[in-house]
Amino acid sequence: MITRSPAPLQRHDEGEPLTLQPAWQAQLAGAVRDPRELCRRLGLDERWLPGAEAGHELFEVRVPEAFLSRMRPGDPHDPLLRQVLPLDEEVRPTPGYVADPLEEAAHTPAKGLIHKYSGRVLLIASPACAVNCRYCFRRHFPYAENSPSMAQWEATLDTLRDDTTIHEAILSGGDPLAASDRRLAWLVARLEEIPHLTRLRIHTRLPVVIPDRIDDTLLTWLGGTRLQKVMVLHINHPHEIDDAVIAACARLRAAGVTLLNQSVLLRGVNDSVAALATLSERLFEAGVLPYYLHVLDPVAGAAHFDVPDDEARELVAGLRELLPGFLMPRLVREIPGEGSKTPL
Ligand code: SF4
Repeated sequence: MITRSPAPLQRHDEGEPLTLQPAWQAQLAGAVRDPRELCRRLGLDERWLPGAEAGHELFEVRVPEAFLSRMRPGDPHDPLLRQVLPLDEEVRPTPGYVADPLEEAAHTPAKGLIHKYSGRVLLIASPACAVNCRYCFRRHFPYAENSPSMAQWEATLDTLRDDTTIHEAILSGGDPLAASDRRLAWLVARLEEIPHLTRLRIHTRLPVVIPDRIDDTLLTWLGGTRLQKVMVLHINHPHEIDDAVIAACARLRAAGVTLLNQSVLLRGVNDSVAALATLSERLFEAGVLPYYLHVLDPVAGAAHFDVPDDEARELVAGLRELLPGFLMPRLVREIPGEGSKTPL
């Protein structure tokens, strides 16, 4: 049984006329969703399969082709594969690791709306992701209860309209860019009508895992908004940044989007000074500034990714010896109930 209801891939939204499917949507629909197929494609030994299948039952495998193609065949420790391959460890309960580590259920005043910090709100613009990351703190999030229909968005938008202290709308998910351009253009146009909103922030992994997502249709609604535009990408390892990702970033910057990156510090993925330093350098080549390096949120099923705080601080100290200040991500933890991220 899959406990997180697998959000359906959105080929077309409700009421949306059937049109030719954009290339990115075909790639989204064609993502590898079978653990056996994932192991076969990467030439992994059969011994990885039972863990992969057991983890898949809890949180399904989803890996788009463009991301898969950057992994090293035959290497079970490939840093990109480790982010998406379920392991035996996922099914072992670990004390302190829970379904809602950030207690977001307590901060949802309207459907699809999370209000944790003053001045900004988070909108669940899509329940789907293009890739399912094993360490995701929302891997158990009740998306079915927090996915507004077009009509329900009106009530959510009323909440924003009534609160003049809110200046920034953050599109999140799932991955907000998994929603269709038609839906996103509609939502952004409605947000623009709220005079006290000045900034639109989008947290997404889609330009990384399917760079074709940054197409002309997206750039038309995003480039045309009066709101200041910030996109926070989610890249954990330098191997995630290939030429297609760099080209997608260039298109976003040309449309006036400020690009930042947040990573999660993950055991077996990026827990070395060399990997983190190369990531910052590579991000800068792509025109993206490192923003946050998060320690792992204690979500059930992800304990094997944890890097203890002392080790995290040592890594960052080592990083500081190699990088200029503007390439240093801030090492932070999110603590439920705190008014901002907590620096470590
Ligand atoms: S893309 Fe983001 S929201 Fe989706 S599974 Fe990965 S970390 Fe979680």
